[in-house]
Amino acid sequence: MRLVDVQPVGAELALKWDDGAEHFVALEALRRACPCASCAGETDVMGNVAKSPETAFTEASFQIKHLQPVGGYAVQIFWKDGHGTGLYAHEYLRAIGERNAQ
Ligand SMILES: [Zn+2]
Repeated sequence: MRLVDVQPVGAELALKWDDGAEHFVALEALRRACPCASCAGETDVMGNVAKSPETAFTEASFQIKHLQPVGGYAVQIFWKDGHGTGLYAHEYLRAIGERNAQ
């Protein structure tokens, strides 16, 4: 399963896969699902999730500045509020796309 094309379309991210599937994921949902350590939290050896205080999202938090493919397995998304540490693995994007499928 490979990601063939990915691009922001309006308030959504359009994902196109090599098996023909296409998904549209709301940018807001995508940002809220940011997998980086400061958003998703890091689990320590005791199983506790260390998470920074709730991020104060603004309108710019749900707008993409640019996308950067990473090593053919992930996409790094830079948001207009300056956040850009989230690496969205293709499998993760696929899971989000399928969960949001109508
Ligand atoms: Zn993040």
